[in-house]
Amino acid sequence: MKNFEDLYIKIKEVSPAHHFEFTDSPFWILITTILSHRTKDIVTDQAARTLYNRYHDSEGLEHADPADVKAIIKYVGFSNVKSLRIIEIARIINHDYGGKVPDTHDELVKLPGTGSKTANIVLSQGFNIPAIAVDTHVFRISNRIGLVHTKTPDETEEALKNIVPLKYQVEFNPVMVEFGKTICKPVSPKCNICPISNYCDYFNNKDATGAIKKIRKKAN
Ligand code: SF4
Repeated sequence: MKNFEDLYIKIKEVSPAHHFEFTDSPFWILITTILSHRTKDIVTDQAARTLYNRYHDSEGLEHADPADVKAIIKYVGFSNVKSLRIIEIARIINHDYGGKVPDTHDELVKLPGTGSKTANIVLSQGFNIPAIAVDTHVFRISNRIGLVHTKTPDETEEALKNIVPLKYQVEFNPVMVEFGKTICKPVSPKCNICPISNYCDYFNNKDATGAIKKIRKKAN
């Protein structure tokens, strides 16, 4: 069994969490996360900031001109669907939740286009409630290290809930995302500068690629 605390502290030292930059509002964290699906960070950030500056809150977004919203998010993946979806989410939040984003997983996943990952990002980043959001980085890194051996994000979330102490869950996703963007990249992970290579199954696996074997040899 790996010592989670040891390896997490090492990861965090090289990959401090980046939080949502322009807002800590649960509503805009929800909207930004929905825009981010299949979209580059820089594009998501630009679109979300412009929406925020134009419409300010769920009341403003509910009454937005759909054509204007669509134009603002035109470089976001699936912008046609998402422009209507975020207006609908604003309407539901205003009418069914008194203008406040719900703070439970059960209620959040009832919103259109809101799966478990998005719900958990809103809970952890918007409300500081411990929750494990499994995106592509969390899924890949947790399996590479050997923290979990899972096939789906849902399985991964369930497994990680038993491994990541509550006190680390709020920051777990942003820390792992940063680590996945800078060191444990999808292709050609930078194992030569990785502070947790000793703990990592992928790095220590006998079937590792030639490149990994070379790095491992150098390190020994
Ligand atoms: Fe990722 Fe390589 Fe570090 Fe393992 S040793 S966590 S594969 S960067």
